Amino acid sequence: MAVERVLSGMRPTGSLHLGHYHGVLKNWVRLQHEHECLFFVADWHALTTHYDTPEVIEESVWEMVIDWLAAGVDPANATIFIQSRVPEHAELHTLLSMITPLSWLERVPTYKDQQERLSSKDLSTYGFLGYPLLQSADILIYKATQVPVGEDQIPHIEFTREIARRFNHIYGKEPGFEEKAEAAIRKLGNKRSALYEEMRNAYQETGDEEALMAARAMIEEQQGLSLGDKERLLGYLEGGGKIILIEPEYKLTPASKMPGLDGQKMSKSYNNTISLRESPDAVAKKIRTMPTDPARIRRTDPGDPAKCPVWQLHEVYSDDARKEWVQTGCKSAGIGCIECKQPVIDAVLEELKPIQERAAQYAEDPTLVKNVVAEGCERARKLARETMREVREAMGLNYS
Ligand code: SF4
Repeated sequence: MAVERVLSGMRPTGSLHLGHYHGVLKNWVRLQHEHECLFFVADWHALTTHYDTPEVIEESVWEMVIDWLAAGVDPANATIFIQSRVPEHAELHTLLSMITPLSWLERVPTYKDQQERLSSKDLSTYGFLGYPLLQSADILIYKATQVPVGEDQIPHIEFTREIARRFNHIYGKEPGFEEKAEAAIRKLGNKRSALYEEMRNAYQETGDEEALMAARAMIEEQQGLSLGDKERLLGYLEGGGKIILIEPEYKLTPASKMPGLDGQKMSKSYNNTISLRESPDAVAKKIRTMPTDPARIRRTDPGDPAKCPVWQLHEVYSDDARKEWVQTGCKSAGIGCIECKQPVIDAVLEELKPIQERAAQYAEDPTLVKNVVAEGCERARKLARETMREVREAMGLNYS
């Protein structure tokens, strides 16, 4: 099977908290063992909404990478880089902007939503309107096949697919495409060429998706074919031109269930977070002072966990026996709230301990982190350059 390439980024706009850990980082740590992964600091994206506070971005970049590494993202398994250190993203963004209808950008649902949500900022900027296209450039430049997203980001991936399709449609028609594709088929050898033709017919005549998938896998696995021939065969398979930019798939990640200290979703804007590098004393204090079921005014008043934010944390951290202890103890006033909170404090501290130990090692040695990022940028840039070479050639910009 062809190797999946996963791309994901995060905006550097402040210190990371348990919501990021449960919602994104644990997923990244798992993905890095399953696929080729590229994780990037989306500093240009941060500027689309924080253009007037660049100092926050600058401060957060390195701290964020430390948090990633501390959470278990491993540079031996994943490429970690900073978006602005790979300026090819900007070049592809500019080139794609030439073929992007304005209406496609205006209809991206997050455009209006975010403008309303962040109404204190003036987001009637060119950069903000274009950020889904910048995101498309981020994805397409690495030919990423999988992008982990939450439900609200699915339209962005659909948009990226449309852009890739439009690009391939306009620029994938090199002179003599059919002859070159036929020549590439012959390079597969007798048996495989026949199989390719058979699967191509099955897809084009009856829309057989399985045949399409099998043919794609066969091409990807084929040894000794040049990249150009592979792209021709992939394009010819679907009846189009050469496929230069790959349409990514989205990988839906369940929305983070991590509740904040007030029972709402954990988020910096609600001021209800526990950051990954919060001191144990501060963590304990924050949880001890969490609001509980307002009906439990006195220790002897029974309560209802369903009305208490502490219960939501038990749902994340406690096993069945502990949950049963909370349910019975709360409803019968058999336990007090401080008693009920202690196992949550212990569990959060236990979760944070190894993260904080690793973070301390990285924080002590900034060169280590800088080296990880420098190597990641180099690896990312190599991939980006390859795509840009093809893009420039297809768009007639390959002057020599
Ligand atoms: S006993 Fe636990 S679940 Fe019940 S109100 Fe107190 S903190 Fe909340």
